[in-house]
Amino acid sequence: MSTQTELRTIEHVIGGAGAAGESTRTSLVWDPAAGEPQAQVLLAEPADVDRAVKAAREALPGWANASLARRSKVMFRFRELLERNVDELARMIASEHGKVVDDAKGEIARGLEVVEFVCGLPQLLKGEYSDEVSTGIDAHSFRQPLGVCAGITPFNFPVMVPLWMHPVAIATGNTFILKPSERDPSPSNLIAELYHEAGLPDGVFNVVHGDKVAVDAILDHPGIAGVSFVGSTPIARYVHERATKRGKRVQALGGAKNHAVVMPDADLDYAADQLTAAGFGSAGQRCMAISVLVAVGDCADPLLERLAARAREVKVGSGLDPTSEMGPVVTAAARERIVGYIEQGVRDGAIATVDGRELETGTGGFFVGPTLFDRASTDMSIYTDEIFGPVLTTVRVDSLDEAIELINSNSYANGTAIFTGSGQAARRFEREVNVGMIGINVPIPVPMAYYSFGGWKDSLFGDHHIHGAEGIRFYTRAKAVTTRWPADGTGGVSRGLNFPTNA
Ligand code: NAD
Repeated sequence: MSTQTELRTIEHVIGGAGAAGESTRTSLVWDPAAGEPQAQVLLAEPADVDRAVKAAREALPGWANASLARRSKVMFRFRELLERNVDELARMIASEHGKVVDDAKGEIARGLEVVEFVCGLPQLLKGEYSDEVSTGIDAHSFRQPLGVCAGITPFNFPVMVPLWMHPVAIATGNTFILKPSERDPSPSNLIAELYHEAGLPDGVFNVVHGDKVAVDAILDHPGIAGVSFVGSTPIARYVHERATKRGKRVQALGGAKNHAVVMPDADLDYAADQLTAAGFGSAGQRCMAISVLVAVGDCADPLLERLAARAREVKVGSGLDPTSEMGPVVTAAARERIVGYIEQGVRDGAIATVDGRELETGTGGFFVGPTLFDRASTDMSIYTDEIFGPVLTTVRVDSLDEAIELINSNSYANGTAIFTGSGQAARRFEREVNVGMIGINVPIPVPMAYYSFGGWKDSLFGDHHIHGAEGIRFYTRAKAVTTRWPADGTGGVSRGLNFPTNA
């Protein structure tokens, strides 16, 4: 095992340059497949956040007033550079997060869609115009950037989730400070280099690495106007409360417990394939992973038999090994937490049809195998809590009514799916479940970039979903202008003290 003094150090990127700043504290970045540290990342102090805000504020007037043509040109170039660097970004993700390279390429591809979305910025920022709203009076509206915005992101999508935020913020004329997860920080520094190469002026995109100290400094800083957060529900709630108290605009996306309902009329082979991918892909560390299977009626036995066979076949290994289908989980602590939940599930009386604790990889990595629980009840912690690991918990119910009631009783409401051959069942499901993103025979219904992404209830705090039209609204403020150009100095309107009315 390497010693900490030999480790590569990951610095902040402030005002276009790498910076150590005031940081003396560091956090280890692990290689989860080997179970060894591979780098250390600096943890920002409030003074570092302050320096980033100063750089972002200095860059703001120039960027906010840059023409739409110039801003979209930078985004077109950034898109090309991202595409050219997919292999390097995917390698970084696989090495620090642990997911397999092809899955990492998938997350980059979904992030790229957001950049493509904002390349059409001039169309997206078109205002409205009404001629002659009253005699001699016209009205129009347009949107302006918020100012300096910040993004605080989770470990599980180190490229895609930040890409939900910064391209939209930057294209709409804001400057941005990204505080990525300290567990997989490297891709964010490469993204900063790509923006620089794309011609983005220094200070428009800054990266501050860190932990709670950096987050709190962002939430409290008077120079920051808007905060986008994605992470677990307790921190999302905290970020929303603290930053809105300081007068900021906040969107804070939280955790999930996504249910997939399988109806007796579903194609069970198709459903089993899809659920294997959605439950165990990325080792279950996706906010849209399916973690609860709701088996309706008599489909439970044949479905579970198919799922168990597929779960046992998943090839688990290093994310950098092209034959692996599922990598390790992100840290030793994550592994310990997941194993703890499996132990508790067994103690509570659920049946571990496939038990991931039995996996042997012969490495020191943070591996847990796919785990399938049957006959769980809704008071068990494997049902109530977000485990964020490769654990699929089955609850058996008798009807679609019961399935919908179960989903609507859950405090999380990020995503959900139904597998069925019935249009009527699907239509009822999509209209009656109180969940933000719904899949019909699609297990991970992540919306395209031109729709918006976001859950309901404890899965999102704030009024705006992320990217798409809601992202544009989040990062901009509207102005409405009423105009009169009187021809003779009065426009024929007499001076009057009454409230103006339309005529
Ligand atoms: P996390 O909440 O631990 O961390 C998210 C961010 O908050 C990180 O940048 C971290 O440094 C910071 N942070 C952590 N603890 C903090 C504290 N006490 N005070 C202030 N800041 C703090 O989440 P994670 O473990 O990195 O990511 C996994 C979680 O993110 C899961 O709950 C998952 O469901 C959720 N997630 C949600 C979505 C979504 O779109 N709803 C998407 C991806 C991930």
